[in-house]
Amino acid sequence: MSENLNPFAIAQAQFDESAAVLQLDPDMHAFLRQPMREFHFTIPVHMDDGSVKSFQGFRVQYNDARGPAKGGVRFHPDETIDTVRALSAWMTWKTAVADIPLGGAKGGVICNPREMSQNELQRLSRGYMRNISRFVGLTQDVPAPDVHTNPQIMAWMLDEYEVLSGHREPGVITGKPLSLGGSAGRTPATAMGGVVTIRETAKLLGMELNGATCAIQGYGNVGSYAHQLAHDLFGIKVVAVSDEFGGIYSADGLDPVVVAQHLRATGKVGGCPGSEEISNSALLELDVAILVPAAIENQITGQNADHIKAQIIAELANGPTTPDADEILNAKGVYIIPDFLCNAGGVTVSYFEMVQNAYQYYWDEALVQSRLDQKITTAFHAVHNMAQARQVPNRVAAYLVAVSRVAEAVRLRGWV
Ligand code: GLU
Repeated sequence: MSENLNPFAIAQAQFDESAAVLQLDPDMHAFLRQPMREFHFTIPVHMDDGSVKSFQGFRVQYNDARGPAKGGVRFHPDETIDTVRALSAWMTWKTAVADIPLGGAKGGVICNPREMSQNELQRLSRGYMRNISRFVGLTQDVPAPDVHTNPQIMAWMLDEYEVLSGHREPGVITGKPLSLGGSAGRTPATAMGGVVTIRETAKLLGMELNGATCAIQGYGNVGSYAHQLAHDLFGIKVVAVSDEFGGIYSADGLDPVVVAQHLRATGKVGGCPGSEEISNSALLELDVAILVPAAIENQITGQNADHIKAQIIAELANGPTTPDADEILNAKGVYIIPDFLCNAGGVTVSYFEMVQNAYQYYWDEALVQSRLDQKITTAFHAVHNMAQARQVPNRVAAYLVAVSRVAEAVRLRGWV
């Protein structure tokens, strides 16, 4: 039978498995299996050529029992409501596993930002915020960047919200530019959290990180910082990286500064001096110690999992590994650092950004880093200890920690 790659079906299957281990009350199970609220809308955008193009937008507030809903907005041509639903569920478990007082949400627009001008993107971003402005805010739901959205897009959305509401409320959105109330250390935060989880895993496995080989799929904000931080902080030898156009390989290791320069000049990693070409699929199957999927969902599947040779998979992307792949990798003894733990650094610093906005008092980068490290290290060990105690794979353990916390909040509120 072929694998079901619908991300929401996958998110629900993962949740069902954990609910069974937890022996979750059936009414609670039914409630937590679905998003609490969804918004679907059409955004008309005046294009530069004079035409008006209508874009489909979504915002899903999966659960806000533990605090205001939180999660990014993706601009992607393959966006679907089920992808946004899955990502909003994963945000709910992510904020819970990181133990920050927020719920989970996600947004998306079906569009191809590569084909749009800056002015068109600005009009789309403002249109998106106009549609959700009544349903977001510091105490309701706080958007942030995700795939193909960035601090500039957050700035336009913030401005639109503040124009409509008539007051300044910087904490309505995170991942803002520093000059509009962004947090020091927010841009590298997702990657930073990921390398902290790699550091803790290496300690457990007795793996020497200096010189350990690594391949990174995806070279957006997360993948590129993962390369830099893994190289600079731990001396990890990153032998391959890729973007959506293809990958590059060097047995001697790729220098993040050289790759960054080449990317700036050409818009892709391919053709970087001192590297050979490698395909995205071959990159996943390289004989490396650490594999970092940092792109999009469904990259490691029942089709290729058996060919994966890495000892550690650090899931910086959301949903990169399917349940069929999990089964194969678990049987092989691969140490998987599950996505909503591995990539929780971004939302953790988003939460710090909201705190700083509320107090109008800003921390320096060193303080942000040390608080982030503390949060992620604690979350990592909570999951690892759960996996040991219940003898379950790390992904199930992460769900057990997160779902119990969310269920407790739901129960205390008297919802179920
Ligand atoms: N988009 C990021 C994620 O998937 C960050 C979300 C946020 O900061 O709210 O975790």
